[in-house]
Amino acid sequence: MSSRNFYNRAFSFFKEYRSASKLLVLSTFSGGGLLVYSDSAPWRRTLTSDGQQVKKKKVVVLGSGWSGYSFLSHLNNPNYDVQVVSPRNFFLFTPLLPSVTNGTVEARSIVEPIRGLMRKKGFEYTEAECVKIDASNKKIHCKSKDGSSLKGTSEFDMDYDILVIAVGAKPNTFNTPGVEEHAHFLKEADDALKIRHSVIDCFERASLPDLTEEERKKILHFVVVGGGPTGVEFSAELHDFLVEDVAKIYPKVQEFTRITLLEAGDHILNMFDKRITAFAEEKFQRDGIDLKTKSMVVGVTADEISTKERGTGKVVSEPYGMVVWSTGIGSRPVIKDFMTQIGQGQRRVLATDEWLRVEGCDSVYALGDTATINQRKVMEDIAAIFSKADKGETGTLNKKEFNGVVKDICQRYPQVELYLKKKKLRNIATLLESANGDNTEVNIETFKQALSEVDTQMKNLPATAQVASQQGKYLAKCFNKMEKCEKKPEGPLRFRGESRHRFQPFRYRHFGSFAPLGGEQTAAELRGDWVSIGHSSQWLWYSVYASKLVSWRTRSLVVSDWVRRFIFGRDSSSI
Ligand code: FAD
Ligand code: MG
Repeated sequence: MSSRNFYNRAFSFFKEYRSASKLLVLSTFSGGGLLVYSDSAPWRRTLTSDGQQVKKKKVVVLGSGWSGYSFLSHLNNPNYDVQVVSPRNFFLFTPLLPSVTNGTVEARSIVEPIRGLMRKKGFEYTEAECVKIDASNKKIHCKSKDGSSLKGTSEFDMDYDILVIAVGAKPNTFNTPGVEEHAHFLKEADDALKIRHSVIDCFERASLPDLTEEERKKILHFVVVGGGPTGVEFSAELHDFLVEDVAKIYPKVQEFTRITLLEAGDHILNMFDKRITAFAEEKFQRDGIDLKTKSMVVGVTADEISTKERGTGKVVSEPYGMVVWSTGIGSRPVIKDFMTQIGQGQRRVLATDEWLRVEGCDSVYALGDTATINQRKVMEDIAAIFSKADKGETGTLNKKEFNGVVKDICQRYPQVELYLKKKKLRNIATLLESANGDNTEVNIETFKQALSEVDTQMKNLPATAQVASQQGKYLAKCFNKMEKCEKKPEGPLRFRGESRHRFQPFRYRHFGSFAPLGGEQTAAELRGDWVSIGHSSQWLWYSVYASKLVSWRTRSLVVSDWVRRFIFGRDSSSI
């Protein structure tokens, strides 16, 4: 090879692989040896089966919470160059967050640093917040966490080929005046630590000399807003702390403490079985927690919280020492802005299809609390399903034609299975038989009639860690077999197009839910309608959560925190 040829080739190599601009070739001829130092990122290229080098696709993952962490820990495809952006350099095990508010468990015991996983997987991590998604240019705009960086620039852009949005949600105040300024939220580790400080601070302040009884009562009035699982669990934890520890530590002021739980609906824990709701309400009453249902908070000031009674419309204001706000979640500003860009501005939550792809946007996926699956209705596609099945184009379906699509219908529309289960029917054939009598051929009208009710069983998935982590795992598995499934799709038939979908759609499996109620009692609703309430479920809760923790390190820390609490009680120092 002539030297000119070599340089030409080298030049065109650099030109072609611009992203490898960092490639630094230091050729040092010493003693006849050639030393080549490469600073290029070797993981940005990969070899295909026929030995060709191709540029890896850059996957940018926003968020290190339940869905993001689960996605990252299951992703094993060397053809992706993965970059994680999150303002939090750790994963937080949120189910145990209420236990941090009073020192049952330490905050560090329930977090897992993200760097360990990054090293193990060869992924990159940047501690920053994405403030804008520019989907038309496949770019995100980020800000470093504290708004400053070593070089004085706090903002930067990042390109992506594929974007995975897993940024979760933010607490929803429903624009109630004063909530942002005066109430505590319980969403992040910092929130739990702030609550822990604030509770102890209330007790120290209430113990100061020269206070009137009224002042002590005000300082020690703890108000929890929201009767969902988090609000209920926090109230229960706080009650345990007051009964088991405060009585010993602050005996002089203990009589002035009061917990009020405010709920706008008719009942607390309304997503649980009625037996659980009833048990929880009774238990709280016995424990002396002041439970006020049908009470909507209309404003919070520095000293008072005002509620409007549903029905009478009467507004009542009460002094308080601390308010914890836990009434649900809403979209983050970056997601709201993104939704407007892609024509989803009218929606409340970012919508994806059943494969977790953001609707109206190419190469962007969204999972966890930040998004909701827009499940297609059977009735929207009924004509397409029928004509796809009617291979002979006779205008009716015979048994063979029907059997040819039945599996795909069940895979594509999960509501069908739920409907069959509800109606206690074995399969769609039995459903059709009931509509079609003894006829062997089914026409479109009968087909429509038989399936007309199935869409009533469509449900939005709850915003839980269980859903988020299953979605993360599902998406990672799809990415792991991307190349294989592009060649050989494994999903259901495309009723409105050709061939099959690449993957099976996401399918959620509900394993059950817990509602810890304090006093070593927990309500559990497990698969099926199995309900258990009491001390035995508490032990089940301990073992399930210990097993769900993401590492042996956090597992051993949490278990030792529990043991420490059993032996020595909770730590009340305000450090
Ligand atoms: P998250 O886990 O919230 O993670 C979001 C991630 O995105 C975080 O790392 C965050 O730092 C990052 N992020 C935020 N903004 C940006 C941005 N602009 N750019 C980049 N990254 C960003 N569920 C259950 O199933 N069982 C329970 O017992 C349970 N208990 C709970 C108790 C509490 C106190 C709370 C608050 C929640 C509880 N949940 C529970 C709900 C569960 O935590 C959520 O459903 C789950 O965290 C959702 O996962 P996610 O990945 O969508 O979001
Ligand atoms: Mg036919």
